[in-house]
Amino acid sequence: MKKIAVLGSTGSIGTQTLEIAAANPGLIQVEALAAGKNIRLLEEQIRRFRPKIAAVWEEADAARLRLTVADLDTEILSGMEGLTAVAVCESAKILVTAIVGMIGIRPTIAAIEAGKDIALANKETLVTAGHLIMPLAKEKGVRILPVDSEHSAIFQSLNGESPKEISKILLTASGGPFRGKIQKDLENVRVEDALKHPNWTMGQKITIDSATLVNKGLEVMEAKWLFGVDLDQIQVVVQPQSVIHSMVEFADGAVIAQLGTPDMKLPIQYALFYPNRRYLAGERLDFFKLGRITFEQPDTKTFLGLPLAYEAAGAGGSMPTVFNAANEMAVKKFLERRIRFLDIYDIISDCMREHKIIENPSVEEILDTEAAVYERIESRW
Ligand code: NDP
Repeated sequence: MKKIAVLGSTGSIGTQTLEIAAANPGLIQVEALAAGKNIRLLEEQIRRFRPKIAAVWEEADAARLRLTVADLDTEILSGMEGLTAVAVCESAKILVTAIVGMIGIRPTIAAIEAGKDIALANKETLVTAGHLIMPLAKEKGVRILPVDSEHSAIFQSLNGESPKEISKILLTASGGPFRGKIQKDLENVRVEDALKHPNWTMGQKITIDSATLVNKGLEVMEAKWLFGVDLDQIQVVVQPQSVIHSMVEFADGAVIAQLGTPDMKLPIQYALFYPNRRYLAGERLDFFKLGRITFEQPDTKTFLGLPLAYEAAGAGGSMPTVFNAANEMAVKKFLERRIRFLDIYDIISDCMREHKIIENPSVEEILDTEAAVYERIESRW
């Protein structure tokens, strides 16, 4: 029996995780759930899965939820205390980090300290605090199991292989909804256009990140931490059909890839049942229908998210935090229609230019850097 806790249970990854739990009765038990504001859906999830603990962000929402589920035994908590209680829930063995943004750092660290394996979707945590999380996980003997489809593909391609023999990681990218466009075409794109991902259905923030290629940049940093490779060993390959989820080239020139239809349930389920595979309902890859798989270089002149990410990762220390925090705030403003699409790049590069790097930042320094970036953006845009 896999006993799990989920941070971000009401989101895209969170709900798909619970669908997998529902499809595997007797094999997965949901012990704790945390959500942000969607208390209606959280209540449904509590009634369906009967967790020991559930948490929401605002205490006022927690108070309302306590009344609506007063007939059940679930303890309802709020704030960072609630997130942390879910993360360290005693009976859970795996924490699924399906929460969005850097708010995931503290609860993820708490879970590792408590010896929980991490099924990691929340890439922002690894991007900003990978230098703290990876050594801590090693020290505690905790597994970091990737949920991101690309990283899961790399993880699957590495099964039975020695990481020392990796020559290159080939991180695939769909190119997003604006593939083939030039900067001029992107000047006036609307939020609705940026939210139309060609292949994947995801949360709003990651969908915008896919359109800017910031997501691919975050994934480059995530891969660096997860697989212990150098930045120049990670190559982004645009593969518009999104059927090759990523590949590894080994020392002898062999390339191993994982393929499948674009369905996040596969990497989520793989992380939960690793090292075993189980039946998963869904469409199968039909190579005759597919016809061909094509490859392109990423357009780094138009989509500055990728070169800015390599620059931030190369600078290291607190710079990836600046890249990530500036992007989080810029995407929020774009979704609120307060800035234009290309302003996202201007905001990230402005914040990076201004920043004095802190080497090996502590959690406090990471969160202070985030706050300083937010303050700068609020005062200028
Ligand atoms: P969503 O926006 O769909 O969901 C985010 C979740 O986080 C929701 O449950 C939300 O709760 C919760 N949340 C937000 N703020 C808080 C808070 N303060 N306290 C508690 N919970 C909070 O995001 P996704 O599922 O798309 O993405 C989640 C993570 O997974 C991201 O890091 C993303 O990069 C990564 N990822 C996502 C993929 C995908 O296919 N969606 C693929 C690969 C990685 P509520 O809605 O109740 O407010």
